[in-house]
Amino acid sequence: MFTPLPDKPDHPALELEILALWEQERTFEQLRDGNRGNAHWSFVDGPVTANKSLGVHTAWGRTLKDVFQRYKGMRGFDQRYQNGFDCQGLWIEVGVERELGLNSKPEIEEYGLEAFAARCREVVVRSSDDLTRGCKRLGQWMDWGNDYFTFSDTNIEYIWKFLEHAHEHGWLYAGHRSTEWCPRCGTSISQHELTGSYVDRADPSLYVRFPLLDRPGESIVIWTTTPWTLPANVAAAVNPGEEYGRRANGEWVAAPRYPDEQFVEQLPGNELVGWRYAGPFDDLAPGSTVEHRVIPWDDVAMDEGTGVVHIAPGCGGEDFELSRVHGLPVLTPVDEAGRFYDDYGWLHGLSTVEAAEQIIGRLEETGRLVEAGLYEHRYPECWRCHTPLIFRIADDWFISVEELRPKLIEANASVEWVPAYFEKRMEDWLRNMGDWNISRRRYYGLPLPIYPCACGHTTVIGSKAELAERAVEGMDQLEQLRRPWIDRVPIRCEQCGEPATRIPEVGDVWLDAGIVPFSTLGWENPEWITEGYATGAARGLTKADLPDHAYWEKWFPADWVTEMREQIRLWFYSQLFMSVALIGRAPFKRVLGYEKMFDEGGREMHGSWGNMISAEEAFEQMGADVMRWQYAAQPPNQDLWFGFGPAYEVKRKLLTFWNSVKFLIDYGSIEGFEPSWERLEPDVDLRPLDRWLVERTKQLVAAATEAYEATLTMDVTRAFESFVDDVSNWYIRRSRRRFYTFDEAAFRTLWFALVQSLRVVAPVMPFLADHLWRNLVQDGPQSVHLAGWPDAAEPDRSLLDEIAAVRRVVELGRQARSASQLKLRQPLRRLVVAGAPLARSHADEIADELRVKEVEFGDVGASELRVKPNLPVLGPKLGSALRDVRERMQRGEFTDLGGGRFEVDGRVLEPDEVLVERVGREGWAVASEDGVTVALDTQLDDDLLLEAKLLDRVHEVNVLRKESGLAVTDRINLWVPDEQVLERYRERLAAETLAVSVELGELRVELAAG
Ligand SMILES: [Zn+2]
Ligand SMILES: [Zn+2]
Repeated sequence: MFTPLPDKPDHPALELEILALWEQERTFEQLRDGNRGNAHWSFVDGPVTANKSLGVHTAWGRTLKDVFQRYKGMRGFDQRYQNGFDCQGLWIEVGVERELGLNSKPEIEEYGLEAFAARCREVVVRSSDDLTRGCKRLGQWMDWGNDYFTFSDTNIEYIWKFLEHAHEHGWLYAGHRSTEWCPRCGTSISQHELTGSYVDRADPSLYVRFPLLDRPGESIVIWTTTPWTLPANVAAAVNPGEEYGRRANGEWVAAPRYPDEQFVEQLPGNELVGWRYAGPFDDLAPGSTVEHRVIPWDDVAMDEGTGVVHIAPGCGGEDFELSRVHGLPVLTPVDEAGRFYDDYGWLHGLSTVEAAEQIIGRLEETGRLVEAGLYEHRYPECWRCHTPLIFRIADDWFISVEELRPKLIEANASVEWVPAYFEKRMEDWLRNMGDWNISRRRYYGLPLPIYPCACGHTTVIGSKAELAERAVEGMDQLEQLRRPWIDRVPIRCEQCGEPATRIPEVGDVWLDAGIVPFSTLGWENPEWITEGYATGAARGLTKADLPDHAYWEKWFPADWVTEMREQIRLWFYSQLFMSVALIGRAPFKRVLGYEKMFDEGGREMHGSWGNMISAEEAFEQMGADVMRWQYAAQPPNQDLWFGFGPAYEVKRKLLTFWNSVKFLIDYGSIEGFEPSWERLEPDVDLRPLDRWLVERTKQLVAAATEAYEATLTMDVTRAFESFVDDVSNWYIRRSRRRFYTFDEAAFRTLWFALVQSLRVVAPVMPFLADHLWRNLVQDGPQSVHLAGWPDAAEPDRSLLDEIAAVRRVVELGRQARSASQLKLRQPLRRLVVAGAPLARSHADEIADELRVKEVEFGDVGASELRVKPNLPVLGPKLGSALRDVRERMQRGEFTDLGGGRFEVDGRVLEPDEVLVERVGREGWAVASEDGVTVALDTQLDDDLLLEAKLLDRVHEVNVLRKESGLAVTDRINLWVPDEQVLERYRERLAAETLAVSVELGELRVELAAG
């Protein structure tokens, strides 16, 4: 027996019920057990940062992962479901600093690194717990409890192994260079971390003159937006190929920048090269030691500033490169925290922002300031703490990319990217990225195992065992491979045997995540180690094993991974880099990427803007299925606008489906319909409409299968939505009466269609699908998720095309009706259809749907053709003849040559030269689309008006029946006041209202006796 359904689903409530059932019945375990040993499909989870609870942004990716794992699960594939947490680096550190009220590195060191590490781990413990809870609520089936945590010693050892490998190949080196630097975090930031971190900002815009030493009274004028870099100025660059001019007041600027100015003298840029000038801050010690001069630089652009560029090699990447070419001194004005060193006199201790104002004031006093204003531009900030970045010279550790670059590009070409343009983005990145800066001057991260020795030799340690072997002391206190413990373990230099200490830096977090396809799958691990991943900080948080190398051979590379677009430069990149470096090939075969998420109005979501939706809130107010539907319906090449408005739309669509199921359940219960899983496909005599729905269902299965295989979920949701429309607005509409009595073919057909559609949509909305499944299928698999994938048989296209044509004609007929403003219950005489030959054998259904007496197929003589000149095209062509042609067209003096061409007064006009319109003639309503035109005869006569009156009455009586509390099957006695209607339509009125008697009188109904 079916269980009655309420009028609409309570998504959150039914989802909690289903979660409890899955738990109780061990549904996921049953699925995995059933698939174990089958062909496998390998998915590797990109780790989610364990510093927060689940948000609606993260839930997008988690949903896509779950959708495809569920799909492959239904198809019988053996899979890994290991979830991952990212646990180290600035993400975690900055959060903990905020919690503890610390705001600088000295404060962290004062707090104590051991205690700080403990606080960081607590964040991970708490957050991984929260995330797990959120993902379970979302419906994500993962191997919870066997998660990988990137801060495990095992993961760290694998990165060490990678670094040792890089060292052996000569790729690892210490570099002294200019780098983007966060003054608050006190560390360099690498190129890939700048992705998406540019914000709009207004900075000072300064024009400053540098007096020329050998040309008295003259100066060269530069432009800068970073006043704090002026004390570190050593040169001014000009473009040697451009013209420069001297103003009457002695100022030299690039002439093309000031086309309206008159110059008293003009010289090519190369003649300015070598001029010496007085630096802007020669009163400060560092500046006074420098001989400032003009240098050539081909990249000086003529689209902003003065065409003269201020060069401070200690404060800019390109400046630093120029210093190498021209042998310029490098002044580094600020320390790790972005504050001026003490040899900068009155600037000592000021931040770069604080210094700006004083610098501008000082330039004004000394007469160097030409002009000061504000400049709006895009400027990078720290991705973690949002402090504006500066450039600083630092010693960092790098992995050289030159040797690997061609192999990376080649490996990328072997990957199938969805959307396809992501491949090009990755390739562009691979072509242009610089060496990988892997060192960070921080605390809670992967310790770089690099031990430079006074003898000049650098040892790179590749494993914990190797560390133990080389350690001078401190192994006994080494709780975790992490600061501060690791810093207490000096080693013996492998070259000279003297003690060497580790560099203090920790690693870029993308090393942590990039090594995952090796570290979690047991690459080169000789023996399977139970709970071998639960080491170091991860001990007690997971039971994950460290598999052996054979396991890696089986599961590597991943068949599929998915993350958002920004991961091209982050996780997709670091994985690819490490994999190509270690074994020369890509770690994944296919990637699904997706764009960004905004609120439903297209704005970014921000806590402070009040438009942030928490996952918790979304679960309570939308339900997980509705969230998942929004994610799945989103084309991955466009930004998702997520919110409660779109959720309402989703609910409305799902309600149509719900109502179709409810319809079957309501009438199935009344009529005692008992379907059987064994006889899924209807095997009784079917009517053409039933056969159509069977084929339509096969078409849904085929379309959804194709969409899942192409990893395009929005094609699944589209296919499902159009199927639901066909079921509800065609099949059920057309067959309603067959369910009022027991018509087995109708029940069996509708049940088959609903059951199959639940199977194909189950990966997207696992809760609602299972809830309805358990009601509809009582003798089959316990859960829809255990039902396997339906056969994707090729549907009968000719039948489908026929009904598609019929539906198009009916849709156009409805449009024509609504344009004529006739009420829906008004019967009409005639419909003429042109251009839909496939619909011809369904004239009766069309007539019935549109309430017309007759449907004719043929020429739509009822419509009038209007042709006008397309003025922008025809005007220039015809010139003064246009007017005559236009008038002839207006009078209808043209010949239709077919194919959109017309002849007017001997001239042939091409399709793009005319505008064509069809309008209904008097008394006809016309609608036209995609080559199909219908014309509705809208003239009414007494017969048609009387029939409309009958139909109004039927409607009224049926409303009254409902209001009187009569059951749909109750028979009645009926009184109506319309004599004419009674005379003509007594039997029809009785039949359509289930009346056993109809008499003249005031309108009323009563339950008939017996
Ligand atoms: Zn920062
Ligand atoms: Zn040595």
